[in-house]
Amino acid sequence: MSVKLRAPKGTHDLLPPDSEKYAAVEHVARRVFGSFGYGEIRTPVFESTELFSRSVGETTDIVHKEMYTFPDRKGRSLTLRPENTAGVVRALVEHGLQEMPRPIRLWYAGPQFRYEQPQAGRYREFRQIGVELLGVAGSAGDAEVLAMLFRFLEALGFTDLTATLNCIPSGAARESFSLALREHVRPKAASLGPEDARRLEENPLRLFDSKDPEVVSLLRGAPSTLEFLDEESRRHHEELKELLRQAGVRFTESAAIVRGLDYYTRTVFEVASERLGAQNAILGGGRYDGLVAHLGGPPTPAVGFAIGEDRLVSLMTTDARPERPLFWVVPDSKDELAYALAVASELRAVMPDATVESDLAGRGIGKGLSRAAQILADPGRHAQRAGGVRAVLLGSREREDGKVTIKDLATGEQETFPRTELAERFGAARER
Ligand code: AMP
Repeated sequence: MSVKLRAPKGTHDLLPPDSEKYAAVEHVARRVFGSFGYGEIRTPVFESTELFSRSVGETTDIVHKEMYTFPDRKGRSLTLRPENTAGVVRALVEHGLQEMPRPIRLWYAGPQFRYEQPQAGRYREFRQIGVELLGVAGSAGDAEVLAMLFRFLEALGFTDLTATLNCIPSGAARESFSLALREHVRPKAASLGPEDARRLEENPLRLFDSKDPEVVSLLRGAPSTLEFLDEESRRHHEELKELLRQAGVRFTESAAIVRGLDYYTRTVFEVASERLGAQNAILGGGRYDGLVAHLGGPPTPAVGFAIGEDRLVSLMTTDARPERPLFWVVPDSKDELAYALAVASELRAVMPDATVESDLAGRGIGKGLSRAAQILADPGRHAQRAGGVRAVLLGSREREDGKVTIKDLATGEQETFPRTELAERFGAARER
């Protein structure tokens, strides 16, 4: 008996028009990030496992239990990337970032993989759009990245989002903070689940990743990250807040934002939306001044963020797809097929931004027109509707006389004219 083939648990296929929404978001990313001088980087979907255990952190949830790790045919341990910053840094170190002009400005978009329990907004294969700025130690780097992020979100129609900002202690200050946190939680250690008990011992900062309501409330009274900042980090944080105010970036502060990856230093931030439900984070980011050196490169400060593209697309209320007029070319019978194909390619040449689709069946004008009406009613075709939907009706008379009949489906108006006038009529309309 044959088994039904299905996409693996936690993955989802993207078909039109959804795939077009993703493409449109990536198009806006390329435009906005490009306007700040950021170039696109594409790194492998799998990397050596060691890259992630060394960068994301052995004790993080991601490395501990969420990675897709497998041996290849030669027994090398590989992992499907759970995030993209480690791969970007690995690529830069490999390609000699010490020789590259600073700052280094990069963005990426692509699939990431985590073995999580799937639920609304949480998948095993999901997509991230991210940005990395390397070589800027000062708070102006953090401010540029955040200002650019908000420019991007606004370009997609999100005008009411707010960043939640924190500054986490680094180096020796981080050790003291970890100790204080452990002291605070230890009296309640007996009531912790096995996962949180492990966090408490191995890496108390990771307790902030806990979903256990008791731990969440326990941490509410915990020592604050801000109390443990060294003088320089405190100054960095204050400067950043001032720059953000001047740039008009909306933010609030929260000492509970620690982020689930070990490589962050100083600035961390998130943007969430209540409309997403339980999995409410749209994006997260921060500064990672130690990571490049940790992965074998020269000491290089860096800051970046990663947006969950699936969550972003699910929140969008505006259609980011470009408006394209649609021409639905209908040959009356098989005898007009060749003529229809010729008219269609002429229309494409005249209007490169239009969609020109041919009804290849040649089942008659009536059937072709009712198909065009269906297209007009299809919400997925909204972008095309906004640019106008027209049927190009081609019967034996049109073919013999070298003419076309074009019916505007919004107004019902119809006109027959020589095919040689297509450029004049539609090419000119585009210029206006
Ligand atoms: P992180 O790399 O964990 O900081 O995540 C950055 C963003 O990626 C989050 O704010 C989410 O929007 C998105 N994200 C992370 N994990 C998943 C997942 N399993 N499914 C969908 N989106 C995710």
